[in-house]
Amino acid sequence: MGTKERFEATAAEVARVCEAAGRKPSEVTLVAVSKTVGPDQVAEAIAGGATDFGENRPDQLVPKADEFTQATWHFIGNIQSRRIRDIVGRAALVHSLFEERHARKIDDVARERGIVQDVLVEVNVSGEESKSGLAPDQVRAMLQTCADLPNVRVRGLMTMAPQGDLDAARRTFAGLRALRDELQPSFPDLTELSMGMSEDWPVAIEEGATIVRIGRAIFSETF
Ligand SMILES: *Cc1c(COP(=O)(O)O)cnc(C)c1O
Repeated sequence: MGTKERFEATAAEVARVCEAAGRKPSEVTLVAVSKTVGPDQVAEAIAGGATDFGENRPDQLVPKADEFTQATWHFIGNIQSRRIRDIVGRAALVHSLFEERHARKIDDVARERGIVQDVLVEVNVSGEESKSGLAPDQVRAMLQTCADLPNVRVRGLMTMAPQGDLDAARRTFAGLRALRDELQPSFPDLTELSMGMSEDWPVAIEEGATIVRIGRAIFSETF
């Protein structure tokens, strides 16, 4: 199997898991995380039907997004202030916002360019020290800050689960969903849940993911 076939198989599996969970496949966006591969494999995934791609470094986002303008690009990595100009506008959705100073800078750059940048707030639901993101009890204040930034629109929440333990992953995903449900009455734009990677995406879909970010299952021959 090549990348095209692996993408097709993954997309079919995502649709099957949605149906089994009583959800519509159209409710879940499959983001192909192309951070470890070059343009040839991006092109193969597009040939298999991929529409959305994720990158975690501006150095990779910039050339790929500029080459494959027919695709929708997502920024899923660590945000650095000095690279925000490269990300705003190129990424249709920034998944990994958790610092107020970055929100303000994104707002400034988006305003200069006359756009509104869609973002997700990254939450460290599991509390693991190695994970970035806000503690759940800090998210409301962040959303309030962003509500005063006219060129930033928070569309939802993102998290990463502990690896190698699907029960812990399920608790993490359920926790993100509960937080979204709790905050949504005050913040009606908060609809998206970006959660689930190659090892745990079926569990994430069962727990309400609207975006899954899948890398190795699509792009690695050995996954
Ligand atoms: C790399 C990455 C993914 C994809 O991980 P896989 O295990 O390869 O599916 C998803 N989300 C983020 C934030 C990543 O950095």
